Amino acid sequence: MEILEYMETHGHEQLLVCHEPSVGLKAFIAIHDTTLGPGCGGLRIWPHKTEDAAIMDVLRLSRAMTYKSAVAGLDLGGGKALIMADARNDKNETMLRAFARHVDSLGGRYVTTEDVGMTPRDLEFIAQETKHVVGLPESMGGSGDTSVMTGLGLYLGIKAAAKATWGSDDLSGRTIAIQGFGNVGYNTSVHLLKDGAKLTVTDIYEGSRQRAAEMGAAIVEPDDIYDVECDIFSPCALGGVINGDTIPRLKCQIVAGGANNQLLSNDDGDALEERGITFAPDYVINAGGIINVGSEIGGVYRRDRALELTNRIYETTLNVIQTARAEGIPTYAAADRIAERRIAAVQGLKTTYR
Ligand code: NAD
Repeated sequence: MEILEYMETHGHEQLLVCHEPSVGLKAFIAIHDTTLGPGCGGLRIWPHKTEDAAIMDVLRLSRAMTYKSAVAGLDLGGGKALIMADARNDKNETMLRAFARHVDSLGGRYVTTEDVGMTPRDLEFIAQETKHVVGLPESMGGSGDTSVMTGLGLYLGIKAAAKATWGSDDLSGRTIAIQGFGNVGYNTSVHLLKDGAKLTVTDIYEGSRQRAAEMGAAIVEPDDIYDVECDIFSPCALGGVINGDTIPRLKCQIVAGGANNQLLSNDDGDALEERGITFAPDYVINAGGIINVGSEIGGVYRRDRALELTNRIYETTLNVIQTARAEGIPTYAAADRIAERRIAAVQGLKTTYR
């Protein structure tokens, strides 16, 4: 892989290679675009087999953060970090503190937070070395569990998709099939149930299935979720689940879920359009988490501000779907276009004062 060529093609600004031999730290920090603000995105701990795979992952993820924050209207750019390690066996305080020193060396161009393989406790270690970290526990003045805000935003995104599809955002009596009943699936369901929606849930973990059943959801086997007769299919577990195998099986009018990168490829977004299924782009409707941690940057966490911005996900989702219709393009492309236009507009400002 030609790294610089890839970065040039996709508009990346910086890739930092981090090494600390005393603790075996091998990490990468990718900053995609800082036009709107510091590159912000989580630290992922994942034992990629090759450095190429790790670099591709962190570059791709950092770009996705640029788009997510731009569409959400945040003053944040895109960044992401990755430690090549097994979170269960290799992660420890010194490794995280060594990583945090590299974050600090960037002087605020990158702000880190939690991602796969990380816990709030791990962020506390990072905070010992740098102030450029968000998503800290509430006891440290941070925003705490992000999935509560993600769940609220996702619920509002689902309602907006309903409004755009059926002319009403009333979810009472609507059947919603949810794949994955973890933090996001649960926190979204709380709102959906209050609205009188009927839920069909699957999860590979028995404890999550039980929790859903206790809330009144019907439970199906993991692979059967694609065949459920429903109004809305909501992937809240894994990426890539909307693909050539699953699309022909879907019996819904809307796909709107919290999982990142649901479309295996853009062709699958086109295939949803062809089947007349409205796709609410994942990064638009799952932005509650980044909004929440973003509300912590540069001072004290303001929950009221995070709520205000998360409430805007309804309007943003409607705008994305309406833009897609007006411009005759798929919704995933409309979301990208809105992000790119906002970044270009800010980049084009002639007045400089900072
Ligand atoms: P989580 O680990 O709490 O929950 C995921 C759930 O999915 C688990 O219960 C797991 O058992 C289940 N699952 C895994 N594979 C499955 C399968 N094949 N079929 C059915 N269920 C399966 O994670 P989460 O925080 O709820 O995140 C869910 C998704 O949302 C992820 O893709 C994540 O990247 C994305 N996301 C999360 C947040 C957040 O604030 N937590 C924000 C934005 C996006």
